[in-house]
Amino acid sequence: MNSIVVVGSVALDSVKTPEGESREALGGSAVYFSLAARLFVPVSVVGVVGKDFPSRYRRMLSERDVDLSGLKETRGKTFRWVGEFGRDLSDAKTIETHLNVFRTFRPSLNAAHRRSPVVFLANIDPEIQAEVLGQMESPVVAACDTMNYWIESKPRGLKKLLSRVSIFFANEEEAKKLTGQSNLFRAAGMISEWGPAIVVIKKGEHGAILKVGRRLFAFPAFPMESVKDPTGAGDSFAGGFMGYLAGTGDFSDVQNLKRAVLYGSILASFNIEEFSTKNLEKLARAHIEERLADFSDRLNVEKDEPFAVSR
Ligand code: AMP
Repeated sequence: MNSIVVVGSVALDSVKTPEGESREALGGSAVYFSLAARLFVPVSVVGVVGKDFPSRYRRMLSERDVDLSGLKETRGKTFRWVGEFGRDLSDAKTIETHLNVFRTFRPSLNAAHRRSPVVFLANIDPEIQAEVLGQMESPVVAACDTMNYWIESKPRGLKKLLSRVSIFFANEEEAKKLTGQSNLFRAAGMISEWGPAIVVIKKGEHGAILKVGRRLFAFPAFPMESVKDPTGAGDSFAGGFMGYLAGTGDFSDVQNLKRAVLYGSILASFNIEEFSTKNLEKLARAHIEERLADFSDRLNVEKDEPFAVSR
């Protein structure tokens, strides 16, 4: 079975939403990604934490079979992010970003990690993402994600990285900022000209766009009436998408890629029901399959129960 190496942030997040707040809770792009992808394939995290990183978080991840042999602990403080979501819960407003131990982190992959067939470069400094990619022996698939913070501070490094990956994930705002395009289909086309043959643009409750080669697809999101904390929606989407594809071993069948979007949406929908990683921690593959069947039913335009329209 394929395994995935993920490099990204391992964080202590303080998040405020209209539904409440969490302080110094477990977060980070690599954490959300691995908690989603581990439900499909073995996942190894490459990253760094400070001496203040609670051991219970390490234990929780290990108990869920996330390999932490590449998670270094150094002197200094763990990465911290402070964010806020407004009423419409669309985009996160970053209040504070403290890179802390990530400021000087230079990853060094062990032999097993270097040989992994799939690498996911989750949201972190594009220079760190490039260093990890450079150490991989011959990955079959390399995918990456980013955030406004890096689009603004390291645009050249990011663009260089894009020329070396096959799959790229962005949310609506990031895709527009990166390309200067207001039409998302054109933005996806422009990004794919820079390198990645597969581009996924996430639009929160409005679904996602998938560009595969020349073909474009649009998907709705799983309808959610109760959302507590959208933090990590993008990373858990990527974890579901990449995990499913790595599990099947087929990254080129278009039907499979479309199914991966549904898995990504399902993982994100579970994640946003609770603060921090609470829901992802409890999740089992059966819950995912059950919601996927429900989602597929709702998407089926060929048949459904009759509905009495007259009163
Ligand atoms: P998302 O899936 O986009 O909601 O990602 C949320 C996670 O990204 C949070 O748990 C943060 O800890 C992490 N994060 C926020 N800003 C950055 C950044 N500049 N670099 C890396 N990770 C970040």
